[in-house]
Amino acid sequence: MRGKLLVIGFGPGSFEHMTNRAMDAIKESDYIIGYKTYVDLIKDLLTNQEIISTGMSEEVSRAQAAVRYAEEGKTVAVISSGDAGVYGMAGLVYEVLIEKGWKEATGVSVEVIPGISAINSCASLLGAPVMHDACTISLSDHLTPWDLIEKRLEAAALADFVVTLYNPKSGRRTRQIQEAQRILLKYRSPRTPVGLVKSAYRDRQHIEITDLEHMLDFDIGMLTTVVIGNSSTFLYDNKIITPRGYQRKYTLNTTEQRLRPHERLRHENEPWALHQGKNDSVTNVAVKEKKGLATESTISSLELAIEALSKVERNQTFESTPPAAVHHPVESIFEFAVSPGIANKKFTPSQLITLAEVVGEEGSMEYTPHHQIYVKVPTADPERVTQKLEDVGFILEPIGDVFQIKACDFCEGEKKDSIPHAEEIHQRLSGLDLPKELKLGFNGCGMACFGAVNEDIGIVFRKGKFDLFLGAKTVGRTAHAGQPVAEGIEPGEIVGLIEKIVLEYKEKGHPNERFFKYFKRVGKIQHYQYKDMTPKIEIEPAPCGD
Ligand code: SAH
Repeated sequence: MRGKLLVIGFGPGSFEHMTNRAMDAIKESDYIIGYKTYVDLIKDLLTNQEIISTGMSEEVSRAQAAVRYAEEGKTVAVISSGDAGVYGMAGLVYEVLIEKGWKEATGVSVEVIPGISAINSCASLLGAPVMHDACTISLSDHLTPWDLIEKRLEAAALADFVVTLYNPKSGRRTRQIQEAQRILLKYRSPRTPVGLVKSAYRDRQHIEITDLEHMLDFDIGMLTTVVIGNSSTFLYDNKIITPRGYQRKYTLNTTEQRLRPHERLRHENEPWALHQGKNDSVTNVAVKEKKGLATESTISSLELAIEALSKVERNQTFESTPPAAVHHPVESIFEFAVSPGIANKKFTPSQLITLAEVVGEEGSMEYTPHHQIYVKVPTADPERVTQKLEDVGFILEPIGDVFQIKACDFCEGEKKDSIPHAEEIHQRLSGLDLPKELKLGFNGCGMACFGAVNEDIGIVFRKGKFDLFLGAKTVGRTAHAGQPVAEGIEPGEIVGLIEKIVLEYKEKGHPNERFFKYFKRVGKIQHYQYKDMTPKIEIEPAPCGD
């Protein structure tokens, strides 16, 4: 009978955080071998296993005993807290086996059972500090020369890793953590968030959130893990968050990503990435798409997170974006739409010159069907960009799922009676976050030559009063104009009415639900009843040629 070695990581300490396999493995063992404190942690799981618990520094004799019993044909559990392969017993067990010439095919069987390591359990209690490239460094110099540990600290600090320190301090080892702090402070702001987690998921769990400068003012011991953020880690409501980097691509209203999945990979959207040639990735992506091949993942974790959040609490909005806490300004993609005015469709030379200067070689401009130019510009200082453009009379608007007004040019301002109403609607509603993008078309006379009736909401000024159209389907084969719901609305009432309609949709529309779909679903907006405007499409049979 071949014996069996089960090298078990039992997680941070609570049974809920132990894997089923770890539990079963403990149950199927004849012997349990481990450090006393750890055996105590799992004692409620034990039935009649024989326990061999030893002191802390007796790992080698523990591993040797385990191998010996397994060679006698027994099933032996060697237990480590967290994961057995992270500063645990797994490596040592293999080393002892190798000393004895063990081979998998002929020797005792070995199974290493993974567990939740302190880097994961402690991070979960602090928020989400380990979202980006991270490393673990043990400050124990019993087995590792200090000058090597020092080098690793230096390299990790320089390379902006999130750093998790295991074995940070003990009764006798007190200087190591001071040295670690000194090295990290050479590269990182004293305000860098630091989390100290002691006894995660155990009875004496204690969490402290501090920063690099003050971390030594708190109790740090043998059971503490120290998590140190990178240069973009921030604090929010007593949670430590390391952003994945999405905050580098933001829009004027900053709460959501506007880039479609394939756009994210392009050089102009990710100027910090390593590209083959400047435009290679763009070409590759385009080619892949043409061939119907998958590009990168189609949905980002940010999108998933936002969706989850909207399900938990539909009415909550982010108060502000966290980048205020990011210490080093990073160049970000700032994207927005510019236009010369609501009614004014004419650019001045100085506007175009300024726009070109602001966009520079690295940015991009895209002319859209909505009388706007979409701008993307890498910058660490979005306010300076907006200021420059506003100084030459541009109107700047966020893009994405927001309210937008599209007005005609009022015959170059001749039909001026209605312009103030268009401007007031713009003032009150433009940029408002909505379940889906919503465009309001505003035409200054009954000609409606700018196609107001074909927008989500259409307003046509006619004989001093307004006609209102709701719920055009702007795209697709069954596209149709909006439903005429009212005519002769008094000028004093139109802005308030539009505001009510838009706010109703904002409040009651489902995420991603277009305005016409919302109208169809609820059947009534304000007191306007929905009528189906979908055209019946009859496709002629193809002529048969005889
Ligand atoms: N194998 C373990 C690590 C053992 S080294 C694992 O994967 O987690 C011992 C160090 O781990 C401690 O000094 C402490 O820094 C960390 N540690 C282990 N369990 C912990 C817990 N429950 N809470 C906080 N830190 C813990």
